[in-house]
Amino acid sequence: MNREQAKQAANKAIDGHAQRLIALGEDIFAHPELGYKEHRTAEKIEAEFRAMGVPYRTGIAVTGLRAELPGPDAAGSGDGKGGGVPRIAIMGELDSVLCPGHPHADPLTGAAHSCGHNAQLMMMLGVGYGLLETGLAGKLAGNVSLMAVPAEEYVELEYRDKLRREGKIRFLGGKQEWIRLGEFDNVDLAMMCHTTGTPPGKTISMGGTSNGFIGKYVRYHGKEAHAGGAPHAGVNALNAAMLGLMGIHANRETFRDDDTIRVHPIITKGGDLVNIIPADVRMETYVRGKRMEAILDAGRKVNRALRAGAMATGAECEITELPGYLPRFNNARMNELFTANAGELVGPETILPPGHTTGSSDMGDVMHLVPGIHPYTGGAAGVGHSESYRIVDPQLAYIMPAKAMVMTIIDLLWDDAAEARRIMAEYVPVYTKESYLAMWEQLFAGE
Ligand SMILES: [Zn+2]
Ligand SMILES: [Zn+2]
Repeated sequence: MNREQAKQAANKAIDGHAQRLIALGEDIFAHPELGYKEHRTAEKIEAEFRAMGVPYRTGIAVTGLRAELPGPDAAGSGDGKGGGVPRIAIMGELDSVLCPGHPHADPLTGAAHSCGHNAQLMMMLGVGYGLLETGLAGKLAGNVSLMAVPAEEYVELEYRDKLRREGKIRFLGGKQEWIRLGEFDNVDLAMMCHTTGTPPGKTISMGGTSNGFIGKYVRYHGKEAHAGGAPHAGVNALNAAMLGLMGIHANRETFRDDDTIRVHPIITKGGDLVNIIPADVRMETYVRGKRMEAILDAGRKVNRALRAGAMATGAECEITELPGYLPRFNNARMNELFTANAGELVGPETILPPGHTTGSSDMGDVMHLVPGIHPYTGGAAGVGHSESYRIVDPQLAYIMPAKAMVMTIIDLLWDDAAEARRIMAEYVPVYTKESYLAMWEQLFAGE
């Protein structure tokens, strides 16, 4: 079998599972779960791994699971870096966002798949079936791991901070937690696609760079008093918070356009009872930007503004700094290979070139340790994270990316993994696992 025949065979095998994967993807779409709570979704993926007959592990960072396809080093003991065979990680995210108004939202939790992560899981499974049923898994000069990772959406900071204080997790993002747990120690290249809506006539938007961010969980401590009878005896934490927010807005003109800074706080608790001066007010925010220095600089300004609100009213301001996500930078050669393969499936003219997005993903953290890509693939419509988000083209959303990724894996691992080895040789990691963990621990220790 030559390379082209291998790609066709893998895509044919994926087509054989298309209807079932689409149905499973729609089922998961209708049963959304928030990060580190994706138990039902994990069970569905586990059933697929079991059906594949491959070794797998569950409960990685609470809900994550990982399967190893047959290969030269299926046990996963070696890594390409040490002259062994390269290992490629194919990822799908398990979680949803919170969007109670979405027609498919969970009535109890308000969770909804308004970011299309359910589709990523089907892409990952499609890759597995494509390589297994053709026997390519085991023949290619490298290994493939299928990773269903939890908690990409960086939400419910108070809840996750509590999990952190209980020692259940250390990082709020699932892939960060996997890095800490050593799940990327034997990974050499990483790939995933993220479902999105695309402009008319376009099917894919290749990943270039993205914003990273840090998280902040803020508590204002005031003093309760009767709001009608004796407000003078109280300290209004809500007023402090409002002034803090205004202070942030007053700093926005100092953010450089080129840093694409984004600061978007929410008040998660604004008081207890209407007739009591609020003494306990809570907020969550991100500070995002293109580079970590710019993010930390903007973060200092945000802290200054938040504290100023407290100072103005006599309240106390407690800021918990939380590691966010590092900026993404997609690997150029992997992008080229993926674009060429996807172009055969959807037409090269329908693919948008890499750009900069001001959103973030913990895939950025992975890209600071190993080369990786995160293209945005079409098939969805509506606004991301909103009640209008839906999947309108199941083939494009669930199946096409699986094919484009399996074809790219074949390119990477063909010819004794020449492409993969070249990319690995050229890639310079920004961090080792140890220096990566130390960098974020420093931020934890910040406040
Ligand atoms: Zn999202
Ligand atoms: Zn997403």
